[in-house]
Amino acid sequence: MVIQMPIPVVDKEKCIGCGTCVALCPEVFDLDSEGKSYVKNPEGKCDNLKEVVESCPAGAISLK
Ligand code: SF4
Repeated sequence: MVIQMPIPVVDKEKCIGCGTCVALCPEVFDLDSEGKSYVKNPEGKCDNLKEVVESCPAGAISLK
């Protein structure tokens, strides 16, 4: 059985560049040259993606 992991998506329009997601899961998120978060590796190690989603102050991260 294959377990489908949720894929995080960042809405750059909402992101305020606080860096929380990068601090929590640096293998998955990074900040771009404009200081906005993006998903650099959707399959990177991240213990609790749901926690990251809930920790984003701008509500910019969703899972699909
Ligand atoms: Fe942007 Fe949210 Fe990540 Fe902060 S936690 S950098 S607002 S996506």
